[in-house]
Amino acid sequence: MRPLSRVHGGGGRRRRLSSGLSSESVTRAPYVGAMYSSTNSVALVGVEPRLVGVEAHVSHGSKNIVVIVGLPDTAVREARDRVLAALVSSGFRRPSGRIVVNLTPADLPKVGSAYDLPIALALLSATGEIPKGALQVVALGELTLDGTIRPARGALGAGLVGRQNGWSVLVDPVSAAEAGLVPGASVLAVRSLAHAVAVLRDLDGPAPVEQIANRDRPLVVDLSEVRGHEQARRALEIAAAGGHHLLMWGPPGTGKTMLAKSLPGILPPLTSEQELDVAQVFAAAGRPTPGRGLRPFRAPHHTATLPALVGGGSGIPSPGEISLAHHGVIFLDELGEFPANILEGLRQPLEDGHVTIARQGNTTTFPSSLQLVAATNPCPCGFHGDRKVACQCSRSAVDRYRRRLSGPLIDRFDVRVRVGRPRRSDLTGPVGEASAAVRERVQAAMKRQLARGRLNRRLGRRELDALAITDDALASLARAYDELTLSARGFDRVRRVAKTIADLEENNVVNSSHVSEALSLRGGW
Ligand SMILES: [Zn+2]
Repeated sequence: MRPLSRVHGGGGRRRRLSSGLSSESVTRAPYVGAMYSSTNSVALVGVEPRLVGVEAHVSHGSKNIVVIVGLPDTAVREARDRVLAALVSSGFRRPSGRIVVNLTPADLPKVGSAYDLPIALALLSATGEIPKGALQVVALGELTLDGTIRPARGALGAGLVGRQNGWSVLVDPVSAAEAGLVPGASVLAVRSLAHAVAVLRDLDGPAPVEQIANRDRPLVVDLSEVRGHEQARRALEIAAAGGHHLLMWGPPGTGKTMLAKSLPGILPPLTSEQELDVAQVFAAAGRPTPGRGLRPFRAPHHTATLPALVGGGSGIPSPGEISLAHHGVIFLDELGEFPANILEGLRQPLEDGHVTIARQGNTTTFPSSLQLVAATNPCPCGFHGDRKVACQCSRSAVDRYRRRLSGPLIDRFDVRVRVGRPRRSDLTGPVGEASAAVRERVQAAMKRQLARGRLNRRLGRRELDALAITDDALASLARAYDELTLSARGFDRVRRVAKTIADLEENNVVNSSHVSEALSLRGGW
């Protein structure tokens, strides 16, 4: 316990209060002199929950004063008024005298209204309304003036901290469902302060934990809905299997968006651990958790700001789209319309699998291990190379357009495919293979890679140089290097993709057919 003398100061009284002020000896005393109690809550640092101690100390004084210390923001300081009003309207008496509420650790910023409930409970315990031992809980929630508990950010973190310490989580029913995502967490759902006190007094009658509905459900397209596009479907499967970033280019209205939306559906479902990672990011962003097992699919518009994409914002940094897409897919439609500084800002997080935001000497890290899918027109008018519509752009305009995309980000796309206009026979022809069948092959190929260590997207040059490859395949790679003026990076890309194609075939050795298919997926860049 933090020495209380640091909290309330004040000459001789300090010594008296801090000597032997164990929680036991103080709360057993009747409501005279000083009374103390404490409970627990959480703060989020990035997506990581940190334990926050909530201490309440009530001492007699001529004046009624309430002080909240421990790096509170304005919303936390205003807890004073909400808590006192909620106490009275819930039928409890307002503690008189000097009240000091301390939130520990002192150097961790406390933000928002989530500490109302634990502060009220600590006060009620200090004044003897709740038995001391009953406060071995993690409490979180905003109080309305009539004592109703409203949802607050951090329920999932409360679940993690509660499980770690063997405490129950005490939150409103909506947050209870979020906290209940943590396997093994004990969650008590309470609707009001009076209800919370009743539950803590006899640990009886908590509302049942309600299941979270699949809100924010990503619109996943089944591949059976995509007709034609044989090469693009194949490219999508290869990209999924190796975790490769995918670039699709072609005229507008050819189905690039449909193809992108079908990617989450051919990836293996999230493991429960990954599900928890995703829920943590969404909780840190103050958003409802996506449905169980679903891979996130985010599609930010090209007008989105850099903080919205990579994270940041005013106040406590919030995760951006690339973190909301963690373990899932981010789709950048009209890639060429995204400002250069934004594309540049995406590069490092994609490479590292996490993003670090520095602010006033503090750094916050959010995860960003994801698959990037982008679509672009081939030229400003969109019809360069189209079978039916003539391109209106000059040669130099087309070149300029492509050069804009030829920066370092474009190097991150291992798989690039042209998505042309589907033929009429495709649109009336047989339905394509369903996502479930493709997913099985993808899953098997991923398993092979993970058994070796990591996804092929992450293979470095040293690993690529050690690749098992036939002499034929090596010869055609060398030819491509010379004749197609493949860059060194392009050479690595082809080898990575060829390895994934071999994995899809359950072949340990890369052969020349794998290499030639990989070479066909270099796109027009
Ligand atoms: Zn054009």
